[in-house]
Amino acid sequence: MTVTYRGRIHEPLSDPKEEYTRGFRETSGIIDPVGVFLAGATFWYPYFGSGLVAFSLDTNVPEQWHLISQGDGTSNDGNGRARWSSGGPMDEIYLVGGPLLRYRAAAGATTGLVYLRQPDDGLAQRYLQATGQYIEMYRQLIGPYPYGKFALVENFWETGYGMPSFTLLGPTIIRFPFIITSSYPHEILHNWWGNSVFVDYASGNWCEGLTAYLADHLMQEQRGGGAAFRQSSLQRFRDFVREGRDFPLAEFRSRHDAATEAVGLR
Ligand SMILES: [Zn+2]
Repeated sequence: MTVTYRGRIHEPLSDPKEEYTRGFRETSGIIDPVGVFLAGATFWYPYFGSGLVAFSLDTNVPEQWHLISQGDGTSNDGNGRARWSSGGPMDEIYLVGGPLLRYRAAAGATTGLVYLRQPDDGLAQRYLQATGQYIEMYRQLIGPYPYGKFALVENFWETGYGMPSFTLLGPTIIRFPFIITSSYPHEILHNWWGNSVFVDYASGNWCEGLTAYLADHLMQEQRGGGAAFRQSSLQRFRDFVREGRDFPLAEFRSRHDAATEAVGLR
């Protein structure tokens, strides 16, 4: 069966969220001269109902651009094409990118990639080195890394998204020095928990707590800060999960405020 359709995708970013300081501006999908963000909620590919999808993807790439999706492939083959193959079922299909510079290094049996909007060799090398270290650490703890690449992609607005085999971080977030030992290993670890062993949200989201434990907590534990981390977790629970705001872990879906974060993550 062949489906042919066309349309313009350009939903402007939402207003910054007020209530929760870690909230990001959102769009269901945008194709713009500054970059592209397409996700399941964009409905940019045929949707046949809920369930996981395996895919292979072939698209035009503007000159000087890179387009990144899940799995294995190329973000720009030098002849104006990007190709990606999921290598297995996924929750949804992402396509992100824009005018980007590509940096690459082997990371054990997989490939580390960094895509930046401005040249910054030092920053790229730090992330590539960290990519190799974390993937090796988790390979020893859990098992083989499930994808042929892990990419850090610089977004054109501030985000902290983790997708299967890549993470989409905002320009400011990427350059915070603490990210490389906090959010970054967290997003890499999600490739085992949540982005290859998927969450059945109807029965609760188990993957955030496990990922926080084996990333955020483990990073602190390795630096001798495990006890302080656990204490601050208990403090958050005491401070934010007050009467009537507590709920069972099985009812956690995603964090949307300090109370849900204290229950579902730490
Ligand atoms: Zn997470």
